[in-house]
Amino acid sequence: MLKHQRELYFGLIRIHVLLHAAHQPIFGLAMMEELTHHGYRIGPGTLYPLLHGLERNGLLKSVLRNVDGRERRVYKITPLGRKALEKATAKVDELHHELHEDHPRKLAP
Ligand SMILES: [Zn+2]
Repeated sequence: MLKHQRELYFGLIRIHVLLHAAHQPIFGLAMMEELTHHGYRIGPGTLYPLLHGLERNGLLKSVLRNVDGRERRVYKITPLGRKALEKATAKVDELHHELHEDHPRKLAP
């Protein structure tokens, strides 16, 4: 992903991660596939720091889970994460609405 795209899309990707974590525990590889499905090409070197950052900010909490004899780090949303997702949803709805209006609100001259 190019730097200017990365800066524009990172908030959207974080919201996307929270959305899925609100429905089921997530892990890196599956989340990367999901983001690819939505047209975001994001590698482990980008996604894992993003997950760590969400955990550091208290929006996700990770646990190690044994899957077929291998340790896998899975992330669950926290109550703070749910609240953040709720607020972000309202922001995205607002933006979506204005993006699809014929004319955005006129700014003060
Ligand atoms: Zn999705």
